[in-house]
Amino acid sequence: MRDVHKSYGTNDVIKGVDLKVEDNEVVVLIGPSGAGKSTVLRMINGLETTTSGDIMIDGEDIAKPGVSIDKVRQKIGMVFQHFNLFPNMTVKQNITLSPTELGLKTKDEANAEAIELLDQVGLTDKADAMPDSLSGGQKQRVAIARALAMHPDIMLFDEPTSALDPEMVGDVLGVMRQLAKEGMTMVIVTHEMGFAKEVADRVVFFGDGKILEQGSPEQIFEHPQHERLQTFLKQVL
Ligand code: ATP
Ligand code: MG
Repeated sequence: MRDVHKSYGTNDVIKGVDLKVEDNEVVVLIGPSGAGKSTVLRMINGLETTTSGDIMIDGEDIAKPGVSIDKVRQKIGMVFQHFNLFPNMTVKQNITLSPTELGLKTKDEANAEAIELLDQVGLTDKADAMPDSLSGGQKQRVAIARALAMHPDIMLFDEPTSALDPEMVGDVLGVMRQLAKEGMTMVIVTHEMGFAKEVADRVVFFGDGKILEQGSPEQIFEHPQHERLQTFLKQVL
Protein backbone atom coordinates (compact mmCIF):
# COMPACT_ATOMS: atom_id res chain seq x y z
CA MET A 1 0.00 0.00 0.00
CA ARG A 2 1.39 3.38 -0.94
CA ASP A 3 0.07 6.49 0.73
CA VAL A 4 -3.42 5.04 0.93
CA HIS A 5 -6.22 7.27 2.15
CA LYS A 6 -9.87 6.48 2.77
CA SER A 7 -12.71 8.77 3.77
CA TYR A 8 -16.35 8.15 4.44
CA GLY A 9 -17.85 11.48 3.53
CA THR A 10 -15.90 14.00 5.57
CA ASN A 11 -14.66 11.34 7.97
CA ASP A 12 -11.02 10.50 7.16
CA VAL A 13 -10.47 7.01 8.51
CA ILE A 14 -7.23 6.00 6.74
CA LYS A 15 -4.74 8.83 6.61
CA GLY A 16 -1.76 7.80 4.51
CA VAL A 17 -0.81 4.18 5.05
CA ASP A 18 2.35 2.68 3.56
CA LEU A 19 2.58 -1.03 4.12
CA LYS A 20 4.63 -3.62 2.30
CA VAL A 21 4.09 -7.31 2.87
CA GLU A 22 6.69 -9.72 1.55
CA ASP A 23 6.11 -13.24 0.28
CA ASN A 24 5.91 -15.70 3.17
CA GLU A 25 5.70 -12.90 5.68
CA VAL A 26 3.28 -12.95 8.61
CA VAL A 27 2.20 -9.43 9.52
CA VAL A 28 -0.02 -8.83 12.53
CA LEU A 29 -2.02 -5.59 12.78
CA ILE A 30 -2.87 -4.37 16.25
CA GLY A 31 -4.44 -1.22 17.56
CA PRO A 32 -7.44 0.26 19.32
CA SER A 33 -11.03 -0.01 18.12
CA GLY A 34 -11.75 2.31 15.21
CA ALA A 35 -8.08 2.68 14.25
CA GLY A 36 -8.79 1.38 10.73
CA LYS A 37 -7.45 -2.18 10.86
CA SER A 38 -10.50 -3.79 9.25
CA THR A 39 -10.74 -1.05 6.67
CA VAL A 40 -7.15 -1.72 5.62
CA LEU A 41 -7.79 -5.46 5.27
CA ARG A 42 -10.97 -4.83 3.33
CA MET A 43 -9.16 -2.50 0.95
CA ILE A 44 -6.48 -5.12 0.29
CA ASN A 45 -9.04 -7.46 -1.22
CA GLY A 46 -11.19 -4.81 -2.82
CA LEU A 47 -14.16 -5.07 -0.45
CA GLU A 48 -13.63 -1.38 0.18
CA THR A 49 -12.49 1.25 -2.32
CA THR A 50 -9.66 3.68 -1.60
CA THR A 51 -10.00 7.44 -1.74
CA SER A 52 -6.42 7.81 -2.97
CA GLY A 53 -3.14 5.92 -3.09
CA ASP A 54 -2.03 2.61 -4.64
CA ILE A 55 -2.50 -0.95 -3.57
CA MET A 56 -0.18 -3.15 -5.57
CA ILE A 57 -0.71 -6.89 -5.57
CA ASP A 58 1.78 -8.85 -7.61
CA GLY A 59 2.56 -5.72 -9.61
CA GLU A 60 -1.07 -4.85 -10.32
CA ASP A 61 -2.68 -1.73 -8.85
CA ILE A 62 -6.06 -2.89 -7.59
CA ALA A 63 -7.01 0.64 -6.56
CA LYS A 64 -7.09 1.67 -10.23
CA PRO A 65 -10.48 1.84 -11.88
CA GLY A 66 -11.10 -0.92 -14.40
CA VAL A 67 -9.01 -3.60 -12.69
CA SER A 68 -10.82 -6.93 -12.52
CA ILE A 69 -11.15 -7.20 -8.78
CA ASP A 70 -12.67 -10.69 -9.03
CA LYS A 71 -9.46 -12.00 -10.58
CA VAL A 72 -7.35 -10.36 -7.89
CA ARG A 73 -9.65 -11.58 -5.15
CA GLN A 74 -9.17 -15.18 -6.27
CA LYS A 75 -5.59 -14.88 -5.06
CA ILE A 76 -6.60 -13.50 -1.68
CA GLY A 77 -8.28 -15.56 1.04
CA MET A 78 -10.23 -13.75 3.69
CA VAL A 79 -11.43 -15.04 7.05
CA PHE A 80 -13.87 -12.94 9.07
CA GLN A 81 -14.76 -12.73 12.72
CA HIS A 82 -18.22 -14.15 12.04
CA PHE A 83 -17.27 -17.03 9.69
CA ASN A 84 -19.77 -16.12 6.94
CA LEU A 85 -20.35 -19.74 5.93
CA PHE A 86 -23.23 -20.47 3.58
CA PRO A 87 -25.82 -21.81 6.04
CA ASN A 88 -27.80 -23.86 3.52
CA MET A 89 -24.81 -25.89 2.32
CA THR A 90 -22.84 -28.70 3.90
CA VAL A 91 -19.28 -28.12 5.04
CA LYS A 92 -17.97 -29.83 1.93
CA GLN A 93 -20.22 -27.78 -0.36
CA ASN A 94 -19.01 -24.59 1.33
CA ILE A 95 -15.44 -25.57 0.51
CA THR A 96 -16.01 -26.76 -3.07
CA LEU A 97 -18.37 -24.00 -4.22
CA SER A 98 -15.88 -21.40 -5.48
CA PRO A 99 -13.38 -23.74 -7.16
CA THR A 100 -16.16 -25.55 -9.05
CA GLU A 101 -18.28 -22.48 -9.87
CA LEU A 102 -15.23 -20.74 -11.28
CA GLY A 103 -14.32 -23.81 -13.31
CA LEU A 104 -10.97 -24.23 -11.56
CA LYS A 105 -11.68 -27.82 -10.55
CA THR A 106 -14.04 -30.63 -11.46
CA LYS A 107 -16.50 -31.68 -8.81
CA ASP A 108 -14.48 -34.82 -8.06
CA GLU A 109 -11.21 -32.91 -7.76
CA ALA A 110 -12.80 -30.30 -5.54
CA ASN A 111 -14.38 -32.95 -3.31
CA ALA A 112 -11.07 -34.78 -2.94
CA GLU A 113 -9.31 -31.58 -2.04
CA ALA A 114 -12.04 -30.61 0.43
CA ILE A 115 -11.35 -33.83 2.33
CA GLU A 116 -7.62 -33.04 2.42
CA LEU A 117 -8.32 -29.51 3.64
CA LEU A 118 -10.69 -30.77 6.31
CA ASP A 119 -7.96 -33.13 7.44
CA GLN A 120 -5.57 -30.18 7.62
CA VAL A 121 -7.95 -28.27 9.92
CA GLY A 122 -8.85 -31.36 11.96
CA LEU A 123 -12.44 -31.81 10.78
CA THR A 124 -12.52 -34.86 8.51
CA ASP A 125 -15.65 -36.16 10.19
CA LYS A 126 -17.63 -32.97 9.48
CA ALA A 127 -17.64 -33.05 5.66
CA ASP A 128 -21.39 -33.65 5.44
CA ALA A 129 -22.42 -31.58 8.46
CA MET A 130 -24.41 -28.35 8.15
CA PRO A 131 -22.71 -25.22 9.52
CA ASP A 132 -25.42 -24.76 12.16
CA SER A 133 -24.43 -28.02 13.81
CA LEU A 134 -20.82 -26.88 14.33
CA SER A 135 -19.21 -25.01 17.20
CA GLY A 136 -17.77 -21.57 16.55
CA GLY A 137 -14.24 -22.91 16.45
CA GLN A 138 -15.23 -25.62 13.99
CA LYS A 139 -17.03 -23.08 11.80
CA GLN A 140 -13.97 -20.90 11.73
CA ARG A 141 -11.75 -23.82 10.73
CA VAL A 142 -14.18 -24.59 7.88
CA ALA A 143 -13.96 -20.94 6.83
CA ILE A 144 -10.18 -21.25 6.72
CA ALA A 145 -10.40 -24.47 4.70
CA ARG A 146 -12.82 -22.77 2.31
CA ALA A 147 -10.40 -19.90 1.77
CA LEU A 148 -7.49 -22.30 1.25
CA ALA A 149 -9.44 -24.19 -1.42
CA MET A 150 -8.77 -21.25 -3.74
CA HIS A 151 -4.99 -21.64 -3.26
CA PRO A 152 -4.60 -18.00 -2.31
CA ASP A 153 -1.25 -16.18 -2.41
CA ILE A 154 -2.23 -14.24 0.70
CA MET A 155 -4.56 -14.95 3.59
CA LEU A 156 -6.23 -12.07 5.42
CA PHE A 157 -7.70 -12.67 8.87
CA ASP A 158 -9.90 -10.11 10.64
CA GLU A 159 -10.14 -11.03 14.32
CA PRO A 160 -10.72 -14.71 13.51
CA THR A 161 -10.97 -15.73 17.17
CA SER A 162 -12.82 -12.76 18.69
CA ALA A 163 -16.25 -14.35 18.44
CA LEU A 164 -15.14 -17.69 19.90
CA ASP A 165 -15.51 -19.17 23.34
CA PRO A 166 -12.08 -19.25 24.98
CA GLU A 167 -11.73 -23.01 24.71
CA MET A 168 -12.13 -22.83 20.91
CA VAL A 169 -9.48 -20.21 20.34
CA GLY A 170 -6.51 -22.57 20.56
CA ASP A 171 -7.69 -24.85 17.74
CA VAL A 172 -8.12 -21.96 15.32
CA LEU A 173 -4.80 -20.37 16.26
CA GLY A 174 -3.21 -23.80 15.86
CA VAL A 175 -4.38 -24.01 12.25
CA MET A 176 -3.09 -20.48 11.61
CA ARG A 177 0.24 -21.28 13.25
CA GLN A 178 0.61 -24.30 10.96
CA LEU A 179 -0.15 -22.16 7.88
CA ALA A 180 2.51 -19.69 8.96
CA LYS A 181 5.01 -22.54 9.34
CA GLU A 182 4.22 -23.71 5.82
CA GLY A 183 5.14 -20.27 4.50
CA MET A 184 1.70 -18.79 3.84
CA THR A 185 1.76 -15.02 3.45
CA MET A 186 -0.65 -13.68 6.03
CA VAL A 187 -2.00 -10.37 7.30
CA ILE A 188 -3.78 -10.88 10.60
CA VAL A 189 -5.79 -8.49 12.75
CA THR A 190 -5.94 -9.96 16.23
CA HIS A 191 -6.10 -9.15 19.90
CA GLU A 192 -4.27 -12.38 20.71
CA MET A 193 -0.99 -10.80 21.73
CA GLY A 194 0.58 -14.12 22.72
CA PHE A 195 -0.07 -15.45 19.24
CA ALA A 196 1.29 -12.26 17.67
CA LYS A 197 4.48 -12.53 19.70
CA GLU A 198 5.01 -16.10 18.69
CA VAL A 199 3.97 -16.13 15.02
CA ALA A 200 4.39 -12.60 13.60
CA ASP A 201 7.43 -11.67 11.57
CA ARG A 202 6.34 -8.09 11.99
CA VAL A 203 3.79 -6.33 14.18
CA VAL A 204 2.18 -3.14 12.92
CA PHE A 205 0.48 -0.77 15.37
CA PHE A 206 -2.38 1.30 13.98
CA GLY A 207 -3.78 4.37 15.66
CA ASP A 208 -6.21 6.87 14.25
CA GLY A 209 -5.92 5.75 10.63
CA LYS A 210 -2.14 5.64 10.54
CA ILE A 211 0.71 3.26 11.23
CA LEU A 212 2.23 4.69 14.39
CA GLU A 213 4.89 2.05 14.93
CA GLN A 214 6.03 -1.26 13.49
CA GLY A 215 8.74 -3.78 14.13
CA SER A 216 9.58 -7.26 15.29
CA PRO A 217 7.38 -8.69 18.07
CA GLU A 218 10.29 -8.12 20.40
CA GLN A 219 10.57 -4.44 19.46
CA ILE A 220 6.85 -3.83 19.70
CA PHE A 221 6.10 -5.74 22.88
CA GLU A 222 9.33 -5.32 24.83
CA HIS A 223 10.48 -1.89 23.66
CA PRO A 224 7.47 0.10 22.47
CA GLN A 225 8.43 3.68 21.60
CA HIS A 226 5.22 5.50 20.76
CA GLU A 227 3.27 6.66 23.78
CA ARG A 228 -0.02 5.48 22.23
CA LEU A 229 1.44 2.00 21.76
CA GLN A 230 2.65 1.94 25.35
CA THR A 231 -0.83 2.88 26.54
CA PHE A 232 -2.47 0.33 24.25
CA LEU A 233 -0.23 -2.47 25.48
CA LYS A 234 -0.94 -1.62 29.10
CA GLN A 235 -4.64 -2.06 28.35
CA VAL A 236 -4.42 -5.35 26.47
CA LEU A 237 -1.56 -7.23 28.12
P1 ATP B 1 -12.19 -2.63 15.63
O1 ATP B 1 -10.98 -3.03 16.44
O2 ATP B 1 -13.30 -2.11 16.50
O3 ATP B 1 -12.64 -3.70 14.69
P2 ATP B 1 -10.93 -1.24 13.39
O4 ATP B 1 -9.54 -0.82 13.69
O5 ATP B 1 -11.11 -2.48 12.59
O6 ATP B 1 -11.74 -1.34 14.76
P3 ATP B 1 -12.43 0.01 11.28
O7 ATP B 1 -13.59 -0.92 11.31
O8 ATP B 1 -11.47 -0.14 10.15
O9 ATP B 1 -11.63 -0.02 12.67
O10 ATP B 1 -13.02 1.48 11.29
C1 ATP B 1 -12.22 2.63 11.16
C2 ATP B 1 -13.11 3.85 11.17
O11 ATP B 1 -13.88 3.88 9.98
C3 ATP B 1 -14.09 3.91 12.32
O12 ATP B 1 -14.14 5.20 12.79
C4 ATP B 1 -15.41 3.52 11.69
O13 ATP B 1 -16.47 4.14 12.32
C5 ATP B 1 -15.26 4.03 10.27
N1 ATP B 1 -16.01 3.21 9.30
C6 ATP B 1 -15.77 1.90 9.00
N2 ATP B 1 -16.62 1.46 8.06
C7 ATP B 1 -17.43 2.51 7.75
C8 ATP B 1 -18.54 2.68 6.86
N3 ATP B 1 -18.96 1.70 6.05
N4 ATP B 1 -19.12 3.91 6.83
C9 ATP B 1 -18.68 4.91 7.62
N5 ATP B 1 -17.66 4.81 8.48
C10 ATP B 1 -17.04 3.62 8.56
MG1 MG C 1 -12.12 -4.26 12.92
